[in-house]
Amino acid sequence: MNPIQLAIVGLGKIARDQHIPAIAATDGIELRAVASRNAALDGIAHFATLDELLTQAPEIDAVALCTPPQVRRAQAAAALAAGKHVLLEKPPGATVSEMAPLIAAAKDSGKTLFAGRHSRFAAAVEPARAFLANREIRSVAIAWKEDVRVWHPGQRWIFEPGGLGVFDPGINALSILTRILPRPFFLTEAELSFPANCAAPIAANLDFSDESGMAIRAEFNFLQTGPQTWEIRVETGDGVLTLSEGGAKLTYAGVALAETQQEYPALYRHFVDLVRRGTSDVDLAPLIHVADAFMLGRRLVVDAFED
Ligand code: NAP
Repeated sequence: MNPIQLAIVGLGKIARDQHIPAIAATDGIELRAVASRNAALDGIAHFATLDELLTQAPEIDAVALCTPPQVRRAQAAAALAAGKHVLLEKPPGATVSEMAPLIAAAKDSGKTLFAGRHSRFAAAVEPARAFLANREIRSVAIAWKEDVRVWHPGQRWIFEPGGLGVFDPGINALSILTRILPRPFFLTEAELSFPANCAAPIAANLDFSDESGMAIRAEFNFLQTGPQTWEIRVETGDGVLTLSEGGAKLTYAGVALAETQQEYPALYRHFVDLVRRGTSDVDLAPLIHVADAFMLGRRLVVDAFED
């Protein structure tokens, strides 16, 4: 079977840090082009815009949209209309409702739409899901605290409308939680801290529950200096299960159960598999929780943020 000829759209931090090495490490897919206004790669065909790529590079089978969420819907719609498979970086969109026409377009065109969520491919996620499937779960505590200046240097889009602010990393925790918990959960209360000069929050405290009344507390913060924390702690009837390092590590009763699978190679293996099977994979549950937080959350105004 011929490898998928892929183009990256938006050659920024995540494309360089993760997509390029993951594509190189994945059988069945090859990086053939880049569409980016201000960046290019030696030896790879370059187009300034996605439209140029779509009209001038008919050999491209698929695009990985690594642009900010505010511009991705239009790009995904154009790529699907041109008969390309589409991998969306996370979050899948800037709104929930923009996803339905994309899902329909992928179905109509017989192309793959994959709402990538790299954290779901972390090593601890599937073992944690299996561990929790039949256990009494008493509570969950999430701490997702990182330094925006380190992980999103100079990225003004993240604090613009649709950029999601601290929910940009926070949705990763929600991607994991919606996968590992055996029952649906819902938001009951939220407090979002908006810098005076920003349209998206820089911190959020969220309380969720489920039908049994189980408490889930999530604390997201974008101003964490020093050690970074991406941890989900689940208290069960049989002891505490901890997913740390963003889901790379799973610990139960002090014993490490799983670690080190790399997320992006696993994400690309899944994309290749979806394309080969002629199917799509779009799970909106994490984005719906984010939308709920913006809907229900109490808004606090805090100090202006300067990068
Ligand atoms: P980034 O460094 O700002 O890169 C995005 C690229 O998209 C830019 O370099 C820019 O390239 C292009 N772009 C920006 N605004 C655009 C616009 N209005 N229209 C068209 N193209 C535009 O951002 P990033 O960190 O790579 O994040 C991109 C996505 O990946 C986000 O959704 C983010 O959540 C996700 N992600 C990021 C990380 C991380 O650690 N940073 C981790 C996981 C996932 P040109 O100017 O050359 O066109």
